[in-house]
Amino acid sequence: MDDNKLNTWKESRKRRIRNLSSKNLLSGIIAHDWTALSAAITLVESFKETDFREAQELIKLCLPYSGNSVRIGITGVPGVGKSTFIEAFGELIANKENKIAVLAIDPSSSLSKGSILGDKTRMNMLSMNENVFIRPSPAGSTLGGVARKTREAIILCEAAGFNYIFIETVGVGQSETVVKSMVDFFLLLMLSGAGDELQGIKKGIMEMADAVVITKADGENSKKSEIAAREYRNAIHLFPPNENNWIPKVLTCSAIDNFGLDEIHQMIKSFENQTKNNGSFEFNRRSQDRTWFLESLKELIYSNFFSKKSVKEFIKEIENKVANGEITSFQGAELVFDLYKKNETGI
Ligand code: GDP
Repeated sequence: MDDNKLNTWKESRKRRIRNLSSKNLLSGIIAHDWTALSAAITLVESFKETDFREAQELIKLCLPYSGNSVRIGITGVPGVGKSTFIEAFGELIANKENKIAVLAIDPSSSLSKGSILGDKTRMNMLSMNENVFIRPSPAGSTLGGVARKTREAIILCEAAGFNYIFIETVGVGQSETVVKSMVDFFLLLMLSGAGDELQGIKKGIMEMADAVVITKADGENSKKSEIAAREYRNAIHLFPPNENNWIPKVLTCSAIDNFGLDEIHQMIKSFENQTKNNGSFEFNRRSQDRTWFLESLKELIYSNFFSKKSVKEFIKEIENKVANGEITSFQGAELVFDLYKKNETGI
């Protein structure tokens, strides 16, 4: 296709996507039409106010069709082997007649234009599997904003019939905590080190994991990986028990040799069975919904507050007074809040 034709096609595609209403998108999504799903996620990711309303309507319509998946968070430091793992593990599960959606949360994606999954060379094979849908991390200036869009994309993917949702995130910043609060199962990928296995792990991440998987357990690394696994098992043993009674597991795998991947799948299936039987699977989702409701409320209040012109101007004025030591920071905050309240309620 020459450049002109390609541009015309791109423009008409854009228009087609834009013209789709929430009702049309819903019928496409529940008919498992991936073009409709892509368009719907584009709508959710849009920064336009009108798209936002349409997207919220669509999410509401999709909710009754959502929920039927296992949501799996996958994290680990850059280079641990996340994308190679997802490629091999995704392939294994997809070939067992499952439908997999791979999403990502990367708060830096607005700067780097999507470093996670954005690079077309990643997960090449997996993206060609007819049971797999891959979507890069949405852009956004705040982690909260990126997280909301991903959560909404989960609902859309579930309504479109995906029964496994992978959410990849990098093991830096706060994004693991955010991913943990939107998944059923949290998988931490780790490298085997040279004797310092428990070094370099961000505090608290191990405690969040439902499983630790030591990657690249092949060749010269395989013995080291077993030793590392033993050390992690001992460490995890010391953590307080989880509310759901699940004891976190430590496994080893090689995405290149296809070793240990089936065991990971079996482990996730037994987690699903156990937590569904004891009610904690559903309980966890309901408490996540509560958390996200409060997060959305905070986000709404925050954006409403800072969108007021008078508030913004007053903040500048007060900021100087605080910096000059004329008033305390708390007094300053109170003054701004009082102005906001007065403008909103007249009181
Ligand atoms: P990510 O940054 O966490 O997504 O890591 P990548 O998946 O890009 O992998 C980083 C490097 O580790 C690449 O050079 C991979 O080829 C290599 N790698 C990934 N998985 C394995 C594995 O199972 N065995 C070996 N030997 N190398 C691996």
